[in-house]
Formats: sequence, C-alpha cells, structure tokens
Amino acid sequence: MAVNTTDIRCFDRYERKDVVIIGNGPSAIALSYLLSGHIPYWNGCPVSNDYLNMKLEKHVKDNSLFEQDLEFLSDGLEGRSRNPVSLLIDNLIHPDADLGANLQSKIKWRHDPLSAIDHICIGRGGIGGVWNRLTSKQLHTVSMATWMELPNYSMSIFRQKYRACRLRQATNNENTSIINDDTSLRATYDEIRSYYINYVKKHRLINYFRNGHEVVSIERVCIDAPFYDDLTQEICTPEALWEIRGYDEQTKIPFIMHAKYVVLATGIPQQITKPLGIIGEQASHSFTYTCLTDIEDIIVNKKRLTKNSKPLLIIGCGLTAIDVLLLCQQYLIPVVHVFRRAIDDHELVLNQLSATVFPEYEYIKELIKQSTTPTTSTSVEWSYQCCIQSEIISITEDGTVHIRNLRTQITTEYEISLIAKLTGAESQIPFFRSLTTNKNNGLNINPYTYECTDLENIYALGALAGDKLVRFLQGGAFACAANLFKKYRQISTDNKLSSVVTSRTRIVV
Ligand SMILES: Cc1cc2nc3c(=O)[nH]c(=O)nc-3n(C[C@H](O)[C@H](O)[C@H](O)COP(=O)(O)OP(=O)(O)OC[C@H]3O[C@@H](n4cnc5c(N)ncnc54)[C@H](O)[C@@H]3O)c2cc1C
Repeated sequence: MAVNTTDIRCFDRYERKDVVIIGNGPSAIALSYLLSGHIPYWNGCPVSNDYLNMKLEKHVKDNSLFEQDLEFLSDGLEGRSRNPVSLLIDNLIHPDADLGANLQSKIKWRHDPLSAIDHICIGRGGIGGVWNRLTSKQLHTVSMATWMELPNYSMSIFRQKYRACRLRQATNNENTSIINDDTSLRATYDEIRSYYINYVKKHRLINYFRNGHEVVSIERVCIDAPFYDDLTQEICTPEALWEIRGYDEQTKIPFIMHAKYVVLATGIPQQITKPLGIIGEQASHSFTYTCLTDIEDIIVNKKRLTKNSKPLLIIGCGLTAIDVLLLCQQYLIPVVHVFRRAIDDHELVLNQLSATVFPEYEYIKELIKQSTTPTTSTSVEWSYQCCIQSEIISITEDGTVHIRNLRTQITTEYEISLIAKLTGAESQIPFFRSLTTNKNNGLNINPYTYECTDLENIYALGALAGDKLVRFLQGGAFACAANLFKKYRQISTDNKLSSVVTSRTRIVV
C-alpha cells in the first residue's frame, strides 16, 4: 500500500527506525538492553548439564553468544518452556533454578555502543508493561524475586537498596507503620514495578522508550520512490517497510513510524475476558470486575467491601483469582468462590506450585478442600464458601446468583455484592487478526529467531511466542537480538563488498 504524502504531513510525528518494538514490559526492556549494544558472553564457569557444558567449552569459549548456532546449543534441553532458546538462556542465567538453586549467572556482558541497533519501544502507560499497573505492596509474585530480574541487574541488590531507602523515608517521617522487614524470597508487586523502572534508568535505556502511546495499526507500505541502480543499470523498487500508526494517550496526537523490523512484545491482552454465556451476564456488567488492580482498589482504597458486605463472587481459580482470595481473607471480606475443575485436577495452578515455596497458596488449597467438606468449619472470622466443579447459570441485576454443581446437578442460590470474573483473557493476536494461532495461543514463530513464520520481518516475544514468565521470555529477546545482529552484520559485509565491486566496475567502464 502506497502512502499518501499529504496524509503524512497532517501527523505530528513521522519517523523512521530500524526496529520498532511494541510494548514496554519486561520483554521489550530485555530486548532494548540487548539492541543497545550489550553483548552476552559465556563466563567460562561450567553448567551442570554435561552436554551443554561440552558444547560451551568446545564451540563458544570467548565468542559472543549472539554469534552462536542457537539451535545447536539449545538442542536436548528440557524444562518448563516449550521454546528451546528460552531453556538455553534460563540454564545460563538461572542455573539449576528448578532444583531450588540460586546460583550466579554464567553470562558476562560487554557493552559495545557502536554495534547498537536503532530502535524504539512504544507502549501504553509507563515502563514495566503489566507491572506498571500492579502496584500492590501486599501481594507477592508467584515467581522467586530473582526470577523476575532482567539481564545484568541483580534483583537482590535492588531489593536491599529499595528497602533501605523506604526504611530511611519512614524513619524521617517518623512513620514506622510502613516499615516492612519482609525478606521474602518473593517480591511484592510494587518492588517489581520499581525494579523495571530502575532497570531502564540504570542501563540508560530511557531514550529508547516512548511510553503513553497506543499503537493501532501495522501495515506493509512502500514509501520511497523507485531509484536507478548504477551497478545493475536497472530501475529498482525500494524495499517495503512496516508502517506503525498510533497516538499519544494523553494528547491524542497521532503518529506514524516506519521500520524495517517490528517486534510484537504486547503481552497478554488483559481486557478481553471470555464471556460466560449465562443468563443475566449483560445485566451484571455494572458490578462485574475483571482486573486485579480494580478489585484491590475497591477493597483496599475505596473500602466498598467490608466484613459485613454480602459475599464477593469470585469466578475462576487461576493465579489472579487466588490473589483476590488472599486479599479478601486479609480484609475478612465474605466470598463465594466458583470454578469448574475438581480440586485434584493437575491443570489447576494450585496443584502446580510447591507447598514449601508458596505456603499461602497451599493454605488456600486447604481452605478450598475444607470448605467443600460440610462437617469442617474453616475460619470463625472469615466467611468463605467454595463451589468446586460448579458453574453459574444466571445472575440477576440485584445480585442473586444461581450456581449448579456439575456432579450432583443441584442448583443453589446465593446473594452477592460484586463479581470478580477472573476466567482468563481471550487470546487475540493484535494487529494481524487473520493470523492463525498455535495450540498455546501464540503466533507461529521460528523457535531460533522468534520471527513470525507468516509475516516477513515481524518478531513476537513473551506470551505471543508462548513464554508468559519473565524467566523464560528473555530467551525470546536473545534469539530475536541475535538474529537482528546477524542480519545487520550481513548487510554491512554486503555493503563493503558492493562498494569494492562498484569501484572496480567503474574502473573497467
Ligand atoms: C497479576 C499478575 C501476576 C503475575 N505474576 C508473575 C510472576 O510471578 N512471575 C512471572 O514471571 N510472571 C508473572 N506474570 C506474567 C507477566 O505477563 C510477566 O511477568 C511479564 O509482565 C510479561 O512481560 P511482557 O513484556 O511480555 O508483557 P507485558 O508485561 O504484558 O507488557 C506488554 C505491554 O505492551 C503494551 N501494549 C499491548 N498492546 C499495545 C498497543 N497496541 N499499543 C501500545 N502498547 C501496547 C501493554 O499495555 C503492556 O504495557 C504476572 C502477570 C499478572 C497479570
């Protein structure tokens, strides 16, 4: 599609970048760090996997990891990601993490600003992606704090400094109530949010970020005029570029950007929660909440729910639902909790977490079990009613809900105050709606470069590539950066060669 030049002049911003990254969360931040010329090397310390160790010794040694054959290096690795490069990088950054170890990273970094690739990260809100909106000082990450860190900035050191700073502020204000000597292995949401903001500052990446901007479309365009090539003596059509359009969230001023490469680091679309398809769903919209921060705001700040309110109806049993349960328990807010699965279902996230590392989740699991046993009383103070293997049939405008037990087919009526519908987001591929997704709801990508197989020069990171956890999404950033650096090295070699050939040709002519 050719672009109308008068159209472009109407826009406040019309820029060209080599790489446009859409998103400003951990995926985008990790990639920006790499593209700004931070090059990873193996530090020479052995890893526990003998086969990987042998390959590192024999083939990697002092060469940059970006120059390696990532398919060969990641071959044979197994773990909690389906992406081989994610497993490779996780093995190097968090060696033996799944065995409970907290070992030093095997990667050392060198900064080569001359190799940096021109790029920009465009994202809604502030730095941190989803973490920019997760501000709770009470809720903790499911992952270990160190698993939330990005390349070359220790989370432990950051947390020590962050706490010392808060302690100083609290002491100066003589407000000892906010002093929290929490030395948990897992960080609060607030700590993670501050870590990502600090990460960008510490590594001087801030100029690579354009926050508070919404991208609305990406299209293939040809903007340059055809040109005459001296060498081939032919008229050539310039290369097509990607055109990224969007606007500033505050001023609403639109922008247009052109780039050869686009990286989708847009995370999971949070707003589109799956409809339940029940009677009264529309009528209950005004008192239904689907986002953790909104529910936390209602409970903690607005205090719209108290221990004397009618129960909050929590639908779903994923991590967010459990976080809401923990909040309700803390503030003694009565709860009716409903989900379809059985309590011993392996797919249930509660059955995938270790009891020693996640005692509060284990506690919730016990509560669920007790709540379904009529003889056992759970807590004298907190009213918690759990309907496992159950589904909602209808909700009325005045907050009457009918819940049917899928095993017994018995329907029970409850009076509720508000609804926390936490049944997961509908997976929709942003910008390229026609694209098919794979069974993990991600795009089809080349697992060693993270390039979309159906779209030229488009890469996908994070959830779109099947990696939702920070520990694993870094592999995507590595693979994408390695591929881009290889392409740029190739271009500069070709340019050098063509300049030699051109001068020779001219002499002959
Ligand atoms: C409540 C909660 C708890 C979690 N706990 C953990 C945990 O303990 N451990 C863990 O590893 N992970 C956890 N996660 C998963 C989380 O997805 C990752 O931690 C991480 O944030 C993923 O990073 P990302 O950069 O890929 O995506 P995100 O952090 O989602 O960032 C993507 C960014 O892109 C922006 N964006 C999307 N579309 C557009 C557009 N059209 N225009 C402009 N900007 C756009 C989004 O607004 C967002 O800011 C949790 C998530 C939630 C919601």
